[in-house]
Amino acid sequence: MARIVVTGGAGFLGSHLCDQLLDRGDQVVCIDNLRTGRVENIEHLFGDRRFTFVRHDVSSHIWVPGPVDAIMHLASPASPVDFEKIPIQILKVGSLGTHNCLGLALEKGAKFHLNSTSEVYGDPQVHPQPETYWGNVNPIGPRSMYDEAKRFAEALTVAYHRHHDVDVRIVRTFNTYGPRMRPDDGRVVSSFIIQALKGEPITIFGEGQQTRSFCYVDDQVEGQLKLLDSDYQSPVNIGNESEFTIRELATEVLAITNSKSELAFMPLPTDDPTQRRPDLTVARRELDWEPTIALREGLVKTAEHFAAVLGL
Ligand code: UDP
Repeated sequence: MARIVVTGGAGFLGSHLCDQLLDRGDQVVCIDNLRTGRVENIEHLFGDRRFTFVRHDVSSHIWVPGPVDAIMHLASPASPVDFEKIPIQILKVGSLGTHNCLGLALEKGAKFHLNSTSEVYGDPQVHPQPETYWGNVNPIGPRSMYDEAKRFAEALTVAYHRHHDVDVRIVRTFNTYGPRMRPDDGRVVSSFIIQALKGEPITIFGEGQQTRSFCYVDDQVEGQLKLLDSDYQSPVNIGNESEFTIRELATEVLAITNSKSELAFMPLPTDDPTQRRPDLTVARRELDWEPTIALREGLVKTAEHFAAVLGL
């Protein structure tokens, strides 16, 4: 049994990680400032004596009393809607927040697990993206606060590894979806499902020819825990290799919700990546992991969740 700190533990992905860690017998200290995380994601855990929730912004100094075996640093707003609203907080949590978490890991002799992102590849010119690709990021564009904060976080993590010998893990998460996504965060899967369920127009940005590869949250969490338990210290892509255009996603969502929503074409945001798909060679080789949940199956589970949330 390990004692694990999860920053951003009240968020979409963080709360699923807290669930799985507790399920396997670990203790969890969840730190979240609730800026984009939500109490409803973790309130089912409040009765568990192995679960502690601390409301705190990890961009300010953090201290956790007692032993800590690992720090999983997920805290960060991650939606393009947040990029516009709170860019400075995103830069702070990726830089100062990561620094504080690495400092805690060093002090405690704990493992440090960074939740990085496929966004480090920017609008990729290599496809699919292997971990060896350095990316194509606009340093001053409308997504730069997120992309560059995560790139800095990776650089800081490897510096602590090389200079202070901190035991590190770096996961590059590709578009993950599932229950507990914020209904209003503007991500494509949650937005399309909610629009379809309500019979509202499906908002396709551009022509919808841009691609993404969508990973169901249970697969993502399993991959991340396998990485945590491994001894692999370099970045690993965790995602799903099945690639879809946004238009194909809209068609799938309409089919599984049996919706008659129309398609509404909107302007394509600046710097919206044209394609994205993980190369999972490293994950297969080092973690013996690959995703198992197909898009349709995951969309059905996610739609059931949102139908319940919306009272439909
Ligand atoms: N997108 C869209 N309609 C929406 C929201 C997003 O067509 O209502 C597109 C967006 O332009 C992007 C893709 O869906 O090409 C994925 O967007 P999301 O914000 O979910 O993730 P990210 O761009 O960070 O991969």
